[in-house]
Amino acid sequence: MKRSCPCCAHSVEGALESPAYTRCLSCGHRWRTPPAATDAGYYESLVARNDLQAPWFARKIAERSAALSDLLAPGLRVLEVGCAEGALGQALKARLPVVYDGIELSRDRDLASQHLDRVFSTSAAGVSTLPYDLIASFHVLEHIAEPEAELLAWARLLGPAGRLLIEVPNQAGHPSLADDRNPEHLHQFTPASLGMLLARCGFACRSLTTGHYESPVYPDSIRVIAERQAQPAIQRELLLQRFRQRLGGPFIAYAIGGDFHNYLEPLAEGLELHALVDSSPAKWGQQRAGFVVEGYDPARHGDLPILICSIRFGADIRRQLLAMGIAPERLVGLEAVYEGT
Ligand SMILES: [Zn+2]
Repeated sequence: MKRSCPCCAHSVEGALESPAYTRCLSCGHRWRTPPAATDAGYYESLVARNDLQAPWFARKIAERSAALSDLLAPGLRVLEVGCAEGALGQALKARLPVVYDGIELSRDRDLASQHLDRVFSTSAAGVSTLPYDLIASFHVLEHIAEPEAELLAWARLLGPAGRLLIEVPNQAGHPSLADDRNPEHLHQFTPASLGMLLARCGFACRSLTTGHYESPVYPDSIRVIAERQAQPAIQRELLLQRFRQRLGGPFIAYAIGGDFHNYLEPLAEGLELHALVDSSPAKWGQQRAGFVVEGYDPARHGDLPILICSIRFGADIRRQLLAMGIAPERLVGLEAVYEGT
């Protein structure tokens, strides 16, 4: 029997690894085949999914609300997919004035609606509202039969600069458990499989960490913060803006070596290059980016900013240029452009 991994799309052949799960040899993902136990309507009848008095419940809510508040500012809009009784949103709204909506299929949504701005009882595919700045989801994606379709539905609800925070059990969720027999858990993610799934859905991971605490039996969770993969044209324009902000207009590129090749030459058409200058006579006369490399000439280069195009030798080159009597305010390091300092 041939199947495809739901995360990395690697083709999987042969028998199931266990009676319940298939394992992808490429990304390590395991999934229940066929999905069982959670037919449509399964969650609608459930209630009181969390024990609000348990010490681990308070522990995870405190940690999660701190993590979310680090990603937010007043007035931003949050959607929590699988908000349960709304305890996390309630805790977060006590810390920070944000708009906090939730999606909850179980009857716990009745309690959540007392604490949150809005609670939807449909899946994300059925939600139609303004874009969110952050979509958070803790221990939900492993319950969903088709995680790729679900992530695409979340993507549709996210603003252009919006972020995702997703947490799922790390494989079985406990380092000493080889298998997760929880029948609601259709997927056992690995850091690789969650990263691959996000990449296939157009997201770039900004951080991926493990060891996040859910409960005594799920103390090891993967947490990913992701955003939309930027389009190359947008990335290029953002980088050109950094050059313009730091250099303020036409400039001289100094030190025409590897860093110039890697970090300036691909952008040359969009840069306000005035001249390419190098201290080595061996490079004079070379054609690069539509210019001829030349030596420094105070008569022709005397007023323009000089971008020192070497991270490795930048400090040495700066000393040489200062020794030549060039004013320090004319010198800009490549690191100042890239780091925005
Ligand atoms: Zn895979």
